[in-house]
Amino acid sequence: MNLSELTFDREGLAAAIACEDPAFEAELCEEAYRVKLANVGKEVYLRGLIEISNICVKDCLYCGIRKDIHCQRYELSEDEVLASARLAAQRRFGSVVIQGGERTDPAFVRKITRLLKAIKEIEPAEDGDRPLGITLSLGEQPREVYEEWFDAGAHRYLLRIESSNPDLYHKIHPEDQLHSYDRRIRALYDLKAIGYQAGTGAMIGLPFQTAGDMADDLLFYKEFDAPMVGMGPYNPHPDTPLTLSGIGYPSAERRFALGLKMIALLRLLMPDINIASATALEVMDPLGRERGILSGANVIMPNITPEEQMVKYNLYDRKTIRSDINTLLSQITIGYGKWGDSKHCSAQHHT
Ligand code: SAM
Ligand code: SF4
Repeated sequence: MNLSELTFDREGLAAAIACEDPAFEAELCEEAYRVKLANVGKEVYLRGLIEISNICVKDCLYCGIRKDIHCQRYELSEDEVLASARLAAQRRFGSVVIQGGERTDPAFVRKITRLLKAIKEIEPAEDGDRPLGITLSLGEQPREVYEEWFDAGAHRYLLRIESSNPDLYHKIHPEDQLHSYDRRIRALYDLKAIGYQAGTGAMIGLPFQTAGDMADDLLFYKEFDAPMVGMGPYNPHPDTPLTLSGIGYPSAERRFALGLKMIALLRLLMPDINIASATALEVMDPLGRERGILSGANVIMPNITPEEQMVKYNLYDRKTIRSDINTLLSQITIGYGKWGDSKHCSAQHHT
């Protein structure tokens, strides 16, 4: 296959995803990088990632911090979260992401509300920088909770749909109301209706997943009109039911190549959105996130969780995670001190 044969319908996208020719994959990533430069420029935006807790009420079959797994649990104190947020402001990251296991208990909900208000008070490091922008990634919540957090200062929310194929979704989650595909989609639309920049994404290279499923994921982002997408390779955790089931999945090399290819195809499909270069890429290759940028992504989330707790947020084997960015690559220019909202958002707001 070559680039001139690529079409953006389901069949064309699936053919591109299934094609394992390295020359085609390299050509595709180069083209996506060109399209990125033309549409969103060279700048890469940073979001300091704060992993607030690995306590979760859910039991997703692939996740290393699922409720039923044996691991050491932690929850950052409010002071620890604020210290990390101050660090992000000092380093001029522009915004932070608070991510964690799903919890809907009132004590946790109120804690997030207090933190949002306190983070909004943090002084920017330089004149002209905006106060920190805040993205949340805390799973499915009742609409009133999303509203409370929006009113307290969160303006972006990342809720991956994990897979746009309901059958596949149900194969990788327990069968109960807490893990319902419809509930997750509803939550995503609630976020959008409230006014959040609602980002989504899916895992790449899952057991059972076909090239057609991945093509449908891309078309889902387009249909949802996502201003931001964070998708990344599936990384098996040894103690999860999905890994222990022994069901096969693509090799690490293939999942990595698929991760880059999905970024590239999405950049061609939605030229002006924000696309994150996922942490999962970095775990597979020390320069994985930078390679994601060179394939069309424009957001990086350096991890600023205190190190002692970071190691416990063990979704999968993450020994290589870094909080710095390799700025040696001449192609990367960091958008310091900026929120880095997607051009797509401003285009939406002006119409
Ligand atoms: N609990 C929230 C949720 O599920 O939306 C946010 C935190 S959760 C750990 C963030 C993301 O981690 C999930 O959306 C999932 O895609 C990803 N994840 C979990 N286990 C993974 C694995 N084994 N490989 C790759 N990504 C994984
Ligand atoms: Fe909990 Fe999120 Fe992991 Fe599912 S993916 S078990 S909701 S932390």
